Amino acid sequence: MALASAGRTGAVLAARATRRGAKAAAVRAFGGLLAAGALVLAFAGEAAAEEAPIFGLAIAIARDEKGERVVDDAWVQRQIDDANGFFAPLGARFRWTMEKPLAEPHGELHTRADRNALTPLTEANAIDVFVVRALEDVDEPGRYRMGVCWTGRGGKRFIVLARTARPTVLAHELGHFFGNRQHSTVVNNLMSYTRDGGTVFLDARQIATIQRSTRSFLETGRLVDVGPPRRLR
Ligand SMILES: [Zn+2]
Repeated sequence: MALASAGRTGAVLAARATRRGAKAAAVRAFGGLLAAGALVLAFAGEAAAEEAPIFGLAIAIARDEKGERVVDDAWVQRQIDDANGFFAPLGARFRWTMEKPLAEPHGELHTRADRNALTPLTEANAIDVFVVRALEDVDEPGRYRMGVCWTGRGGKRFIVLARTARPTVLAHELGHFFGNRQHSTVVNNLMSYTRDGGTVFLDARQIATIQRSTRSFLETGRLVDVGPPRRLR
């Protein structure tokens, strides 16, 4: 997104520069360079999105009182689509590669111990997402959260979503997972709690952190690129 808007700004500057083209060839050449730069920037965003590594999501879903999953496939896919909207232009994509039931007593999380108890249920080389009936704040008991990015025992990080989560919560928690530990106080920043209906965005420092984390995850093997879907036979 940042790349695309930078491209548009460059294109506007270039158009202005070429309208003054009667002045000097140097100005035109400068405008041409700007236009070329704008094109490169605009295509860089698309190319990054198409070639970006795809990380697998291992999603464990709790059951309700009737034994049904607390959320359906469409609910999960909306979360993933929203996350890809933010991350694909930055060079990371996500795909739902594994689903498993989340057995009791893990369907409701109230304490730190409840969260830590998920660590043995995590998968290697994937991003674990646990979808639960209820997620209580461990610092403010009685307050319920829509999501958390938690570091369990042994340093294994994973994401928990409550069934009440809005479609943008996975993207926010992935923002934490990819290195942005702090919350922003800026309205509509993806890593803030405040929205006014405007476009939700990440700033340059947050984007750099996500891109650094993406490289690190691949280099260390913490995450692997699962590539596009394939038929095995
Ligand atoms: Zn957060």
